[in-house]
Amino acid sequence: MARTIIAGNWKMYRTRSEALALVNGILAGAGPVPADRELLVFPAATAIAAVVERCRYSRISVGGQNLHPQREGAFTGEISAAMLIEAGATHVLVGHSERRALFAEDDAFLACKVRAALDAGLEPVFCLGETLAEREAGQTEAVVASQVRLGLGEVSGADLAKLVVAYEPVWAIGTGRTATPDQAETAHRFLRGQLVERWGAAGSGVPLLYGGSVKPGNAAELLSRPEINGVLVGGASLEAASFLGIAAAK
Ligand code: PEP
Repeated sequence: MARTIIAGNWKMYRTRSEALALVNGILAGAGPVPADRELLVFPAATAIAAVVERCRYSRISVGGQNLHPQREGAFTGEISAAMLIEAGATHVLVGHSERRALFAEDDAFLACKVRAALDAGLEPVFCLGETLAEREAGQTEAVVASQVRLGLGEVSGADLAKLVVAYEPVWAIGTGRTATPDQAETAHRFLRGQLVERWGAAGSGVPLLYGGSVKPGNAAELLSRPEINGVLVGGASLEAASFLGIAAAK
């Protein structure tokens, strides 16, 4: 049975002190969030260690928003898996559409990142999803299949216990335009089929998150679908009240 994960991607928002204020608000209000929901936040790199320290012994896990596939080296501005781990991160985002589109990260590079994260003991949250043009051209399944095949090309069945996949249609990210629960469920069913086809039974336990303009008002219906094992939230994770509204939605 897949886990239910409520994850917040804070992107390039919230300084260290602002991140601490945000996580304090989440910790203070987390009581009504069902106990079987895992909470996960992705602060900016400069805030990870402080947020980890604040979340010690709590139900909140902390991840990095990026990593470089090399162990170390002359890669100005990059961050390694070891640096994330020493800061206390347990997870890392890989393949977010903003990284794919704005930083030209291709499937081959993402596959190296996923491998580097797994080798270091970080749990990758691998994001994929089609653009609006691809959806309108009827290419959603082909795009998702190719992103799984290439982006997860270095992953073995044994790695799957430490992998999360987030379906994030690009047209729904930061646009206020959410995929309908039916659209999300259809994509998740296809995605699950791809994982099972490739890795057999191990593919059925990978949590599949939906991301794209999730808000307190639409979270309950999305989370009620059996194929949707959680959500990855951008904008609405930047305020404790809206993140908690999503996390507690039933
Ligand atoms: C995201 O950045 O992963 C995301 C889903 O953003 P938003 O919730 O703002 O659409």
